[in-house]
Amino acid sequence: MAHRKPIIGGNWKMNTNLATGATLAGEVATGCRDLIDACDVAVFPPFPYLQAVGLALGQQGLILGAQDVYHESDGAFTGEVSTTMLLDLNVQMVLAGHSERRHVLGEDDELVNAKARAGLAAGLTVILCIGETLEQREGGQTEEVNVRQLRGGLAGVSAEEMRGVVIAYEPVWAIGTGRTATPEDAETAHRAIRGALGELYDGAVAEATRIQYGGSVKPENASALFAEEDIDGFLVGGASLKADAFVAIVKAAAIPARSAV
Ligand code: PEP
Repeated sequence: MAHRKPIIGGNWKMNTNLATGATLAGEVATGCRDLIDACDVAVFPPFPYLQAVGLALGQQGLILGAQDVYHESDGAFTGEVSTTMLLDLNVQMVLAGHSERRHVLGEDDELVNAKARAGLAAGLTVILCIGETLEQREGGQTEEVNVRQLRGGLAGVSAEEMRGVVIAYEPVWAIGTGRTATPEDAETAHRAIRGALGELYDGAVAEATRIQYGGSVKPENASALFAEEDIDGFLVGGASLKADAFVAIVKAAAIPARSAV
């Protein structure tokens, strides 16, 4: 376990409705009330529910996040959502390059980078998601893919701006599959990503940047993963749709983090 403040995000994807989203947000806010001094907690509802979820989260310090953003500020971009619109709804954090955006919707590193830079320029915290497919892992390309996506996603991002960046390492084969990376495999990838940050920037940036693990995280596996030195929290999909499971994952990070201070 590391000295960086842990950060747990709940990516609701294209799930919930107006009523269930607001209820879930309220339950998560209540369950995390006494944990956010030790752990940053964010939820990423679908765009249409951002306002309702923001209200349901209340003023308890939980973070409202968006699952995506477009890099242009306004104009003829049908269906897209700008940073200004997100800021209007008190969004503080945004995902860039989630594996479903890359592999289902065809986003490449260039577009992911444009979105990340737009988010940072607007003052949003950006969670840059990277990770290899099963084929790439089996082909021994895990580190190469992660470094390429890291380099591509962070092109033109300064060391100063890195304060607003969180990396989510999410092996594609572990997302939504029930198959989790072992703590050792996840730590190997996280250590390599931190090493790459040291080369792209410097040791201070590498030490300070939080790297989340994502891929079938559940209450049952969160503590073992979080015990690894370079794992600073989680990006959670399926298990974030149940308040009790999500709060249990937050506790798996917040309680050891608090007792280590
Ligand atoms: C995700 O959506 O980022 C994710 C990791 O999903 P799951 O936890 O369901 O694997």
